[in-house]
Amino acid sequence: MAAKGKVYLIGAGPGDPGLLTLKGRDCLARADVVVYDRLADPRILGWARDDAVRIYVGKASCHHTMKQEDICRLLADLAGKGKIVARLKGGDSFVFGRGGEEALLLKEKGLPFEFVPGITSAIAVPEYAGIPVTHRKVAASFAVITGHEDPTRTHSGINWAGLATGVDTLIFLMGVENLRHIAERLLENGRPVDTPAALVRWGTHPEQRTLVTTLGRAYDDVQKAQLKPPAIFIVGDVVNLREQLSWFETKPLFGKTFVVTRARAQASALTARLEAEGAKVLEVPAIRIADPEDFGPLDMALSHLRDYAWIVFTSANGVDRFFERLRSRGLDARALASCRVAAIGSATAETLDAFGIRADLVPPSFKAENLTEALLPRLRRGDKILLARAAVARNVLPDALRAAGMIVDVVPVYRTVADCENKEELLQALRDKAVDAVTFTSSSTVTNLLDSLGDDKDLLADIPLAVIGPVTAKTCVAAGLQPAVTADTYTIDGLVTAIQAYFATSR
Ligand code: SAH
Repeated sequence: MAAKGKVYLIGAGPGDPGLLTLKGRDCLARADVVVYDRLADPRILGWARDDAVRIYVGKASCHHTMKQEDICRLLADLAGKGKIVARLKGGDSFVFGRGGEEALLLKEKGLPFEFVPGITSAIAVPEYAGIPVTHRKVAASFAVITGHEDPTRTHSGINWAGLATGVDTLIFLMGVENLRHIAERLLENGRPVDTPAALVRWGTHPEQRTLVTTLGRAYDDVQKAQLKPPAIFIVGDVVNLREQLSWFETKPLFGKTFVVTRARAQASALTARLEAEGAKVLEVPAIRIADPEDFGPLDMALSHLRDYAWIVFTSANGVDRFFERLRSRGLDARALASCRVAAIGSATAETLDAFGIRADLVPPSFKAENLTEALLPRLRRGDKILLARAAVARNVLPDALRAAGMIVDVVPVYRTVADCENKEELLQALRDKAVDAVTFTSSSTVTNLLDSLGDDKDLLADIPLAVIGPVTAKTCVAAGLQPAVTADTYTIDGLVTAIQAYFATSR
C-alpha cells in the first residue's frame, strides 16, 4: 500500500511574505504539491521545493477558477495518492477561508490533515495602517464580519443591531462592493454618522493604500477614490489612532518602485534592504553567474596554492566559486594555510569569513586602486600572487602589481553571462512610468541590461539611475546615461543610503 499522504492547511498571512509562520514555511518546504489561492505572494511559493507541483485554484472575488467542491476533491485525491500537500490560503484558513469545509471532506475519507494558523488580514491589515483593533479606553471589543452577504436577502444572517451598538471596532472583509449597504445597516441601527472609518487596500503590500473617512461619508469617498478590492473596511474610534501610529506608509521609500538588476543569486540582499525601507522591488536580473569557460587555470592554481604569497579576492562571487571548486577537489580552507589573503570590499571579506578565512587585508575603500596601494608595502619583489576573479575584469590591479615586480596569476573563477529574466515586466513598468529608479551594482549589469533592451533602452532616458560606485557610473556615462545617484560607500548599504538621500531631497 502506498504511504499515506497528508494535507497541511496553511494560513499564508495577509501578503507580506515575512508574515508566514515558521511552521507554515517548514510544511511548505516538505510538500510534494502546493495548492494555492490568489492572495498568496509568489515569493511564498518560492519556499516550496523546486520540484513541487504548484496548482493555482484561483478565487478573485467574482470569478472562481475552481469550484470549492472541486478543490476539496483535488485535495482528497492528492492525499489519497500518498502526496504531502500544502494547501495555502490567504490570511488564516478559518477566517472566511473555508478551511473547515476542506478538512471535513478529508475527515470523511479518513485522510490525515493538520491546520497551520496564519496571520489574518482582519488584524494585520489595520495594524499595517497604524490602526489597533483594540486600545485601552477606545475599544474593548472587535468583530470580524463578512461584507459579502447578498444585500437583497430578506433575512440577514448578520445581527446588525448588535454590531452597530454592541461592538467597538468593526472589521469587514470582502466589503468593498457592498459598502453602501454596510454603512446604511450600521447607521439605521444606531451607529453615529461621524464614526471614524477607514478602507485599507492591499494591506501589508508595498501597494498598500489607506483612505480615512467616516461612516456617513465612506461610500462617497470610496467611489471618488475608485478604491477596488481587496480591501478591509474598519469602523470605530480606533481609526483616529492612525494619525500617530501610521508606520508602514511613512517609510522613506514607501510607494516607490525600484528595479534590481543583480544576478538572481545575489539580488536578495539589495531587495531586502529596499523593501525594509518600504519600497517595491522589481527584480530583473541582467546577469547570471556561471562557471568559467575553462577550469584549467583555476585547477592548476589550486594544486599549487603553497607557491602563492597572497591570494586576492575581488568579489563575494569569486570567493564562493573558488571554495566550491576547492571542495569539489576534496579540499577545504586548510589548503590556504600558507598564503595570506586579501579581499576587496567588506562583502568579499564577510564571504571569506563564512568559509573560515579571516582576510589579512581589507582595504578601507573598495576600488582596485586602493588595494594596490594597501598591498604593495606588504609585498616583496618576486612574490607570487593569485588573483581569483571574474573572467572579464579590469586590469588595473594586475598591471600595477606586475609593474612593481610581482608575479601575478590571474585566474577566472566565474563568468557573468547576460540574462534578462522578467524583461517584459520591466518594459511594461517602464512604459507605464511605474519605475522610480533602476539600480546597478556593477558595470556588467549596465552593459548587459542595455544590450538586452536594445532599442527599448530609450525608455531609461528619464528614469533616475542609481549606481554603486564611480566605475559603474563611468560605464553608464559611456553608454550615454547619466546616473542620478552614485553611492559614496561602494556597498549595498551605501547604495541604499544614497538612494534614500536622493529621494528625501527630491520629495
Ligand atoms: N482568510 C483570509 C480572508 C479571506 S476573505 C484572512 O484571514 O485574511 C478575502 C478578503 O480578505 C478580501 O476580500 C479582503 O477583504 C481581505 N483581505 C485579505 N488580504 C488582504 C490585504 N492584503 N489587504 C486588504 N484586504 C485583504
